[in-house]
Amino acid sequence: MGKLLIVGSVAFDAIETPFGKTDKILGGAAPFIGLAASQFNVESAIVSIVGNDFPQEYLDLFTDRNIDISGIEVVKDGKTFFWKGKYHNDLNSRDTLETQLNVLADFNPIVPKSFKDADVLMLGNLNPSVQLSVIDQMEVKPKLIVLDTMNFWMDIALEELMEVIAKVDVITINDEEARQLSGEYSLVKAAKKIHTMGPKYVVIKKGEHGALLFHKGSIFFAPALPLEEVFDPTGAGDTFAGGFSGYIAKTDDYSFDNMKNAVIHGSNLASFNVEKFGSERLQELTKEEVYKRLTQFKSLTQFDIKLT
Ligand code: AMP
Repeated sequence: MGKLLIVGSVAFDAIETPFGKTDKILGGAAPFIGLAASQFNVESAIVSIVGNDFPQEYLDLFTDRNIDISGIEVVKDGKTFFWKGKYHNDLNSRDTLETQLNVLADFNPIVPKSFKDADVLMLGNLNPSVQLSVIDQMEVKPKLIVLDTMNFWMDIALEELMEVIAKVDVITINDEEARQLSGEYSLVKAAKKIHTMGPKYVVIKKGEHGALLFHKGSIFFAPALPLEEVFDPTGAGDTFAGGFSGYIAKTDDYSFDNMKNAVIHGSNLASFNVEKFGSERLQELTKEEVYKRLTQFKSLTQFDIKLT
């Protein structure tokens, strides 16, 4: 069993979907990643920052799941990062209505001593400069570095983001972001170009159309489980990343074949996350439910065709 270090935003989110609205609830990349990875009982830690407005009960939620929070800085007179988004009727696209970086604007991350030798480093969405600093603080080179990012950082910090991309093994990115980053419309061409930027593995997430894993000319496809109802897609990408990196950390196997399994586990957990607002569904999720849905995934994709 490997150790997992997670860096990413910890936030308050205000979300509007065609089905309802929330005021400030727990959001940010790191909570989704941490909650998803906790399904694998890995030893994990979050490096992030919040303000003094951040409720203790949310921090307790992490410690209850054995997620080390000593790397979450609490700023006495600061306000927690805030993000507000509104989904369109098809739930496939959304508008960011507000991004208040607050304490995230000048955050100097400090990696806890006991995680400077983490096996897997999961760089969740936040400033590329913070992601770089975390890579630099590792005393032992992680066996795998996974990066998740978004168009916001491509727009305002592309140069630093490219520096991060050059140092990671895996990048997980959605289809539109892959197109923006590569300047290619075809996702196959986009992945090829992104390989040349550094990552040996490129995962392109296509929302309800699943995810593609590219490695050395091979492509693996994992569907998303067709759900009757999608309630709120917020954090699906982060949950995928948490499932992916948590599974790799648990198995301590860095082969392409195991990455395929990790993509399935990521997709499986993401399918739960979209069923309720924010991380509500992940908070109550049981191992039995996860297992049951994995078997559905298996029968969805397995076929025995005679090649004659
Ligand atoms: P996803 O739906 O996977 O793209 O992730 C949504 C989460 O990303 C929300 O909980 C937000 O708080 C967080 N988020 C939105 N914008 C940013 C940003 N610029 N940097 C870091 N996290 C962000």
